[in-house]
Amino acid sequence: MKIFCIGRNYVDHIHELKNEVPESMVIFLKPETALHHHTIPWTLPDFSNDLHYECEIVLKIDKKGKNILEAEAESFFKEISLGIDFTARDIQAQLKEKGLPWEKAKAFDHSAIVGDFIDKSSFNLADLNFTLTKNNLLAQNGFTKKMIHSFSGIISELSRYFTLEFGDLIFTGTPAGVAAVKQGDLYQGCIEGVKVLEFKVS
Ligand code: MG
Repeated sequence: MKIFCIGRNYVDHIHELKNEVPESMVIFLKPETALHHHTIPWTLPDFSNDLHYECEIVLKIDKKGKNILEAEAESFFKEISLGIDFTARDIQAQLKEKGLPWEKAKAFDHSAIVGDFIDKSSFNLADLNFTLTKNNLLAQNGFTKKMIHSFSGIISELSRYFTLEFGDLIFTGTPAGVAAVKQGDLYQGCIEGVKVLEFKVS
């Protein structure tokens, strides 16, 4: 399986990191070894002093597809969850400055926590609210209507370059509110008030 991630999909997050709004979709991948289920204890890696959380809606692809039309894209996933695209911001800043690939900052072991998947059918995907709390305080409050690229647009564009397969995951971008993770932090994530993600940092 593959883990796709979309970067810079929420304007408020682009501005908080002082990035430019991209002309085309920013796409990167994480390997399968990045995947980490939220019920397994998560430990801070030792190579970063500025490890950030980025809470994102995650789509689970459930059939194979290539060159998928936007109008048909919603039939390629049934379940959604929340995930954290962990980012070693200090390492990413060094790599970005030199125009180098991001993998050391974004694709390391356990850099993609995912929560429990829930059926998408009871939700309006174009207008979902999702939240991440850190130690019971609101840290991120996202609205999918503020995405630059919709879920269908993301699936269609990804499938121009990559064959989508059963079990692939797509992290769809983070809203504003990213910050450094600290040992002992407790994170909880909800989609429309339904808790799907909870983990403690050790
Ligand atoms: Mg991200």
